[in-house]
Amino acid sequence: MIHLDQPLDDTIVELRNTQASSPVVFVCEHASAHIPPEFANLGLRDEALKSHVVWDPGAFAVAERMATAFDAVLIAAKTSRLVYDCNRPPHAPDAMPAHSEIVDVPGNTGLSAEQKAGRVERFYEPFRSAVSGVLASIDTPVLVTVHSFTPVYHGRRRDVEIGVLHDKDARLADAFLAAAADSHSVVRRNEPYGPGDGVTHTLKEHALPAGHLNVMLEVRSDLIATNASQVATADTLSGWLQTALATTRATAC
Ligand SMILES: [Zn+2]
Repeated sequence: MIHLDQPLDDTIVELRNTQASSPVVFVCEHASAHIPPEFANLGLRDEALKSHVVWDPGAFAVAERMATAFDAVLIAAKTSRLVYDCNRPPHAPDAMPAHSEIVDVPGNTGLSAEQKAGRVERFYEPFRSAVSGVLASIDTPVLVTVHSFTPVYHGRRRDVEIGVLHDKDARLADAFLAAAADSHSVVRRNEPYGPGDGVTHTLKEHALPAGHLNVMLEVRSDLIATNASQVATADTLSGWLQTALATTRATAC
């Protein structure tokens, strides 16, 4: 049973399965393409508004299926990462980027300190506080974040299919990679991004200081473009995670 100190605004942060029994907590920072109307789509064209620069297509569906399989809590941000990227600390230059891959973001150009602080307070702080509150309500929690990445980036095709990302604590990532070793999928460590790209913020903020087991999963978005493929991928990832947790815990004991 989850208890949060502050009431949650469910238009900003969504919490699923709050009665869950599992110590695993799934987090999806880039779950939504929603841009509140007052931001006037950040000045983006329709094409960009439907693309991966705005969100992680398919990631929420995969995270939701995994959370159901584990009977685990799922925490998701309800606003586009271009308004505020909840997987970045407020001081990061790409927390509210004026440029993303090949897209300029006019609505993020020349933001004042006050405008930035307003977005931090409205979007990041409630998310940060929900994740920290949920983890604090669980004995020895395990943090798993779920993302998707675009198959073509800056014109180059990526062959990695599933990225298993970690920061300084690689225990769960190591075990996950071992569980996936016999797979036909292309599963790689810290690809297509790694800690040097600043993508492990949620892990560093919420898992590393307390020593919670943690891993960040990145799935190539063309592999989770349909309901059936989301289900199949989520089930595969859940199986590997189950094995990884069993081996990690056995080693810890
Ligand atoms: Zn992401």
